[in-house]
Amino acid sequence: MKIIKNNNKISELRKDLVSGNWVIIAPKRMQRPFRLKETSPLKRLRNSIKNCPFENPQLFGHGEPSLVLKSEKNKNQWAVQVVKNKYPALGGGTQKTKHEGPYELRDGIGIHEVVILRDHNKNLYQLSNKEMSELVRAYILRYQELSLLSYIAYISIFHNSGLSAGASIDHPHSQIMALPIIPPNVEHSIRGSLNFHRKTGKCVHCVMIDFEKKSKKRVIFENKKFIAFSPFALNQAFEVRIFPKKHSPQFEFMSVEEIECFSDILSAVLKKISKALGDPDYNFFIHTAPVAAFYYTHYHWHLEILPKKGIQAGLELGTDVIMVSVSPEDAAKILRNTKI
Ligand SMILES: [Zn+2]
Ligand SMILES: [Zn+2]
Repeated sequence: MKIIKNNNKISELRKDLVSGNWVIIAPKRMQRPFRLKETSPLKRLRNSIKNCPFENPQLFGHGEPSLVLKSEKNKNQWAVQVVKNKYPALGGGTQKTKHEGPYELRDGIGIHEVVILRDHNKNLYQLSNKEMSELVRAYILRYQELSLLSYIAYISIFHNSGLSAGASIDHPHSQIMALPIIPPNVEHSIRGSLNFHRKTGKCVHCVMIDFEKKSKKRVIFENKKFIAFSPFALNQAFEVRIFPKKHSPQFEFMSVEEIECFSDILSAVLKKISKALGDPDYNFFIHTAPVAAFYYTHYHWHLEILPKKGIQAGLELGTDVIMVSVSPEDAAKILRNTKI
């Protein structure tokens, strides 16, 4: 068994004995900034620029950036920079699977990075297309480099905006987690698309895209290369998914034109959500093929956006039974008709 040199073990991956799902146990994450004075988890507060750790990340103890993209307007200024998360959920250790009685556990090895945008007060929906495409380019460049690490199985890219969406710092930032395992929700998505492919010889997402394009009732926005629609069976009100129209398992292989079209549709959908739903907190994440992409040619990468329009209640948390109060057709109609 190959041992990773870094001994800075900070977390454990634990497998649920019944469901087979993995969780990350990272007690050191409790040290990250937390607003005790927050009265309601849905109340949106802005922390000031003065105390913001992302205005000058190195001054606030973040290491040297792994990537810096310069501003178009001012070459001395950074537009996007990627640093290691100061309170990472993953770190060093070994790849060995260990046991504690009937339980299975592993060290939480991996890389946890933060993609920081320059402007403290600019939410993603306020970015220009050029700024958005720089952010997407940063995702791709970091993905390509992290995917070369032998112990990485999956790279998760996500963005939390607002306290109720899990962002502990207001300053706009995305996160990249390079993991030694394939996360359960990605695995379920991959398994579902593989089963469909085995049965029909087709990509389940290509079939859905074709149908949604014809039916139009759940389509929110479309450009030359991408389409955004409300999923037929959604998990949450106003959930939106963005797909490349052409079958493609790996997001990191986007062409320059595809990056432009993807940035355009992501901006458009976020603007519509912000305007129609009153600037809600939101999460988005990319589902793409695992690093060993050769095995996943049936998969079709996409981005999922989840605006925060409610809290998960006991039923959802306890049973996985999801209740959604707005139909995808109504949600799509509202967002489609929102002028931006
Ligand atoms: Zn800031
Ligand atoms: Zn496809």
